[in-house]
Amino acid sequence: MRTYQMLINNHWVGASDGGTRTITDPADGEVLGTVPEATTADVDRAVQAAREAFDNGSWKNDDNALHRAQLLMALANRVREQAGMLAELDTRNCGKPLAEAEADVADAANCFDYYAGLATKVMGETVPVPMNMMSMVVREPVGVAAQIVPWNYPLLMAVWKLAPALAAGCTLVIKPSELTPLSLLELGRLIVAVGFPPGVVNIITGVGEVAGAALAGHPEIDKIAFTGGTDTGSKIMTAAAKNIKKVTLELGGKNPVVVFADANLDTAAEWVAFAAFANQGEVCSAGSRLLVERSVHDAFVSRVAAIAKGIKLGHGLHEGVRMGPLVSAEHRDKVERYIEIGKTEGATLLTGGKRPEGEEFAKGNFVEPTIFTDVTPGMRIAREEIFGPVLAVIPFDTEEEAVRLANDTEYGLAAGVFTRDINRGNRVIKKIRAGITWVNNYHPTFNEMPWGGYKKSGIGRELGKYGIEAYLETKQININLDEAPLGWYV
Ligand code: NAD
Repeated sequence: MRTYQMLINNHWVGASDGGTRTITDPADGEVLGTVPEATTADVDRAVQAAREAFDNGSWKNDDNALHRAQLLMALANRVREQAGMLAELDTRNCGKPLAEAEADVADAANCFDYYAGLATKVMGETVPVPMNMMSMVVREPVGVAAQIVPWNYPLLMAVWKLAPALAAGCTLVIKPSELTPLSLLELGRLIVAVGFPPGVVNIITGVGEVAGAALAGHPEIDKIAFTGGTDTGSKIMTAAAKNIKKVTLELGGKNPVVVFADANLDTAAEWVAFAAFANQGEVCSAGSRLLVERSVHDAFVSRVAAIAKGIKLGHGLHEGVRMGPLVSAEHRDKVERYIEIGKTEGATLLTGGKRPEGEEFAKGNFVEPTIFTDVTPGMRIAREEIFGPVLAVIPFDTEEEAVRLANDTEYGLAAGVFTRDINRGNRVIKKIRAGITWVNNYHPTFNEMPWGGYKKSGIGRELGKYGIEAYLETKQININLDEAPLGWYV
């Protein structure tokens, strides 16, 4: 049990009114610590610190790019040194199995390294123009970034935002989810330890409706980067619209996985289970809608169900566990409500659908991996993001129907296709309107590749060379090389 504080201007501080929140382990209810519950005054202080650190110029300037790269690389190494502690903390705080948390932390370190490399490669260009001018396009940091992240990948979602912003020369205020602030606060210690200047990174803990809303609506920020639910994203965009702030959004999904009869059904079944149940299904890109060619429907679904039944649930720190608890009792209740809705709508509950039995599950928010068959495209369990371990299965007969069903959603985040016919795989994946796609696999994610959604799944891209764009402005400079008079008035 620890008492955590927030990071403002490289000082560790409590909330201005002394408010705190208790953070618990969703697997067993154990109290992990307390964190400050930021007030709007705290948010204001953090934004002012970031503003000053940006406006004094020493962080953002071109001649500091190499230094920014070196700090990011040093931070990557610190994250690797502390990988065990950070992974255990993410497992304890949000429930994910330790092996998944370890992969997240390794990815986070690599993300800092990737953007360290990019920091010195932000370049403009000179452009030929029809006058005797040297006309240049230069890229400059956008300014103070407000960054708001969710609870499902507490460290990694934060790092996806921190790394490109810092590489670009922005300063920032970041807010973790009120449910899972601990690993980001530990990262804050490493940020201070490697020598990031005061005010460059500020970490505010607090609830969305107070601290998040104050941050998104603050007039002194220049840009908002948000990852979370689509409804919250709409509020963020409204706040951004009021002050005309730049905004990028990474939102929800109801992602289709299409399995054709010619796929390798054994390997596809494991990928499909991984798509639906990794991280308890609490993944924006989870493959939560399975579209299966009717001729192999029963054979394929029974394979996936057998895998689902064999998934070991438990505390994420325990040996062999492949699925932890859901993040909170409220969220488990929401997932259970959807399971009831599925039954009421007339879908067939093939497996799961209840809390696992046994003493070790009594105090945690566990739900078994759940598969519904006989789902029709209009059902709520086929249309709404459940954000838990619930897979909805819909059969199809033709390739055209598969594409139509895949696109029959207001979301457009991710999609997968399984087939041995590479031409069909390529053809179908190109027709699906989604930003993150896989053929004959599902979920591998690379720092080098762009991440983001079509349609209601978001605006903009994170990661790769695309991710830094959100933190850059574009300026034209026209230098006159001709001393001849203008000749317009005289
Ligand atoms: P959420 O929208 O409830 O919360 C996300 C963050 O927004 C939290 O930090 C929260 O405190 C804050 N927030 C809440 N209300 C706010 C408000 N009015 N103003 C400002 N900030 C506010 O989402 P969640 O439950 O933490 O996460 C789950 C959602 O995130 C899912 O919908 C999932 O699909 C999405 N997600 C998307 C991606 C992606 O990359 N597209 C990645 C992870 C999660």
